[in-house]
Amino acid sequence: MRLPRRILTLHTAPGRRASSAPAGVVNFVPACSTTDLHSLELLQDFVTRARRLFVITGAGLSTESGIPDYRSEGVGLYARTDRRPMQHAEFVRSAKSRQRYWARNFVGWPQFSSHQPNSAHKALQRWEERGKLHWLVTQNVDALHSKAGQKGLTELHGCAHRVMCLGCGGISARAELQKRFLALNPDWSAQAGGVAPDGDVFIEDEQVLHFRVPPCEACGGILKPEVTFFGDSVNKATVQFVHDRLAESDAVLVVGSSLQVYSGYRFLLAAGDRKMPVAILNIGPTRADHLAELKVSGRCGEIPTDNRQHTDCLSGLAGSI
Ligand SMILES: [Zn+2]
Repeated sequence: MRLPRRILTLHTAPGRRASSAPAGVVNFVPACSTTDLHSLELLQDFVTRARRLFVITGAGLSTESGIPDYRSEGVGLYARTDRRPMQHAEFVRSAKSRQRYWARNFVGWPQFSSHQPNSAHKALQRWEERGKLHWLVTQNVDALHSKAGQKGLTELHGCAHRVMCLGCGGISARAELQKRFLALNPDWSAQAGGVAPDGDVFIEDEQVLHFRVPPCEACGGILKPEVTFFGDSVNKATVQFVHDRLAESDAVLVVGSSLQVYSGYRFLLAAGDRKMPVAILNIGPTRADHLAELKVSGRCGEIPTDNRQHTDCLSGLAGSI
């Protein structure tokens, strides 16, 4: 039976601190007041009641690993810059655009690929280990869930750690392509000005003119990150597979996503059709707030519980299931 919808409002109690995290990590986490204990108790209750939890995660989960998102108010790329992500059609159509994309991606790769899962990724992995979490769908392409050891995982928009050939469909490791870039561009260098959610960086167009991009080793085709660019759509078989996993689940938890992109939002619509209970943990409004019985505005990771100590929200919940 569906519980009454409860939307929790934030408040900052006197003496409580705003959310904090280790220095250098929180640059891309939006400002957020402390989440009150009652919200966390309700969230804990929600997770405890679920037997086969379907979890969908987004960029808000990875900002605490130091990866910026696109949409967060004030700190997302849309707010800070006039840069927008690569469009699929432009990548396929224009050799110059591919050269620019790969040059930036080459510069950003060492930093982007070094990011590590945070406490929230690890907590979700433990939920899976304990049989609480049935399936995890992420909209992130940063491989942090697989780095955390998540097994029942669908990377809805692909993964920037893999490369695909548009000619033969072959999949290869992005790390291998980095070696080919280095071999082809021994004297090329550029200063990176910040790494985007897909591993892109900001460098001037004139810097990329001499960057050499290799073709597929097998067929000579065009290489593209195995990532769904804007303007492209998610593979139909993948969408159906995720719908099937949703049908096997009994509750849905959204973590760190505003669900603005339809490819993820559609699963919330399906959950609504199935009358499944939905809870959302995210800073700021989401497209699916009207479908949730519980909405907690808070960071995915470290959330203060009282004046003296901080506990990790998802880790804390994991301890109680
Ligand atoms: Zn090929």
